[in-house]
Amino acid sequence: MVTVAGWLSSGCHGAGDEESRQRLEMVRSQIEARGVKDPRVLEAMRRIPRHLFVPDDQRASAYSDHPLPIGSGQTISQPYIVAFMTEQLGLKGGERVLEIGTGSGYQAAVLAALARKVYSIEIRKELADGARERLGKLGVANAEIVAGDGYRGWPEEAPFDAIIVTAAPERVPPPLLEQLTPNGRMVIPVGGFYQELKVIDRTPDGFRERSVLPVRFVPFVREGDASSGVPSKKMP
Ligand code: SAH
Repeated sequence: MVTVAGWLSSGCHGAGDEESRQRLEMVRSQIEARGVKDPRVLEAMRRIPRHLFVPDDQRASAYSDHPLPIGSGQTISQPYIVAFMTEQLGLKGGERVLEIGTGSGYQAAVLAALARKVYSIEIRKELADGARERLGKLGVANAEIVAGDGYRGWPEEAPFDAIIVTAAPERVPPPLLEQLTPNGRMVIPVGGFYQELKVIDRTPDGFRERSVLPVRFVPFVREGDASSGVPSKKMP
């Protein structure tokens, strides 16, 4: 048996196995067909074994054209949305990227293939632990995952060239805007039932924001929110 780490770092598509075939088909029919063009993004999507990021009972649907449950009431985004959001970040390879909402770790793995370093925050500890273990097994060495409330960003590691948020707040958290580099870019779904995916560029005179796609993400929650199931941090 080939270890996944060796297989991933070799850049081999594992030509011939059923998952690789499904992955090539996913990129062709769901992602390229809808207009995603960045060759590096397409290559990462062809390479990252998405089926290893979903629960066993969802594996048969890993390459289907929709989001999937990953436990704790959360979801892994539809492949097209992962590709689209990643392309919007315009990564060239040298960036330090912050992700809020690690979930399964799939988006983090895609980012890690395209940027220098990924910092990812997940509010549900069991998901953060699962994603960290998964990325470790896959040999992804340039992604760091912590459990915590991403509203505050990651001040110790700021600023970031790119920030991607994969849960939807009602408003853009100000600490995240502050943690963008001068020419940095953020991609974030904003809203309640109806959400818009926003691309926010930091410019010399402030922030420029545009809506690029109607989307449907799980809600951005805060520690201690009654409905989130995420407890408040105990004071030491
Ligand atoms: N990017 C993920 C998809 C995550 S779904 C993937 O590739 O699988 C959104 C995630 O955001 C959920 O796991 C949810 O627990 C998390 N989340 C919601 N609010 C958060 C917050 N304030 N800080 C960090 N994570 C948050």
